[in-house]
Amino acid sequence: MKKALITGVTGQDGSYLAKFLLNKGYKVYGTRRRTSTPNTWRLRYLGVLNNKNFELLVSDVTDLGDSIRLLENCDPDEIYNLAAQSFVSTSFYQPKLTAEITGLGTLTILEAIRNFNKNIKFYQASSSEMFGKVKEIPQNENTKFYPRSPYAVSKLFAHWTAINYRESFDIFTTCGILFNHESPLRGEEFVTKKITKGLARIKMGKQEVLTLGNIYSRRDWGHAKDYVEAMWRMLQVETPDDYVIATGRTENIKTFVDLTCKKLGFDFSWVGEGKNEECINVKTGKPLVKINEAFFRPNEVDLLIGDSSKAEEKLNWKTKSTLEELCCEMVDFDLKNL
Ligand code: NDP
Ligand code: GDP
Repeated sequence: MKKALITGVTGQDGSYLAKFLLNKGYKVYGTRRRTSTPNTWRLRYLGVLNNKNFELLVSDVTDLGDSIRLLENCDPDEIYNLAAQSFVSTSFYQPKLTAEITGLGTLTILEAIRNFNKNIKFYQASSSEMFGKVKEIPQNENTKFYPRSPYAVSKLFAHWTAINYRESFDIFTTCGILFNHESPLRGEEFVTKKITKGLARIKMGKQEVLTLGNIYSRRDWGHAKDYVEAMWRMLQVETPDDYVIATGRTENIKTFVDLTCKKLGFDFSWVGEGKNEECINVKTGKPLVKINEAFFRPNEVDLLIGDSSKAEEKLNWKTKSTLEELCCEMVDFDLKNL
């Protein structure tokens, strides 16, 4: 029985990946950091928590001693390093903390591998945010990086550290440069979830209006369920390498609002410009969406669109869900859970 360790298992990707690996017959260890109240709802929702081949351990990627003992305890064949302070906005206000978890946390796990067993295969959750102010459209594995936030800078440190450990110590490290991926289990502060949940709440009379920041940035959004499969595939090949994982389609935030409004059956229309732009409920004349400067970032990533032909060719991986299907799944989940 192969053994996998997932850091950050309580997050969106960690939960889907744990489920995926359990279905593949793995023994799965997942880490959660110590919290005063449990945050295992995603694992419970996906039926992971009570699986006999799943074990939840308390560990923090910023602590080296803890990380070494973690590896001694589970002796994994594969490690998926998903733990991170993953929210770009927060990284502007907590840059040091972000660097410590998202950047140095990766170094810590790699040091633990180097000390404990160099044959462990390591997956690093790199991010399309590293392309930032993009130098090429679409972005592929050879596109130059230009990070635009403390989060992206930290991810870039982690990315190059993983490559450096591959080249210096012959450790199997692979980096998945994943473009945005969402799901019903996406964190509440990310824009897709904020939109589907917010508009679903308005539909049910539980909220007046949804406020957003820059609705003209564009993202390449895929489904987390498809993307965790790519992570696994990256560790099954002969030679470690880096791969872009994306859908190849980019849309702006406003289009995601449109898709959500359509799914919820709103008769809607956009009026106004700039900070006064609004999405109006035609029936009631009331705004559904307003712009609030508080949600603008000190620095923006305007356009992301990935070219994952390398992953298609070498990993036989291709995205399955369309953006429309993803949006509908998220809305259905939010309506059901309200
Ligand atoms: P989440 O924010 O949902 O999950 C992050 C996980 O990291 C959570 O389990 C969190 O724990 C844990 N964590 C935070 N700090 C620590 C710490 N100090 N020690 C141990 N664990 C910690 O992110 P996603 O699941 O969406 O993303 C997974 C990974 O992929 C992240 O590294 C993210 O940056 C990266 N990524 C994500 C993309 C996306 O679109 N989703 C795109 C590209 C990369 P807790 O639950 O306690 O907060
Ligand atoms: P990111 O790509 O990792 O930063 O993912 P997010 O979902 O947090 O943000 C995607 C884009 O949506 C960014 O360009 C944000 O500026 C934009 N955006 C606009 N309004 C909001 C908002 O209210 N919340 C968030 N999180 N993002 C917003």
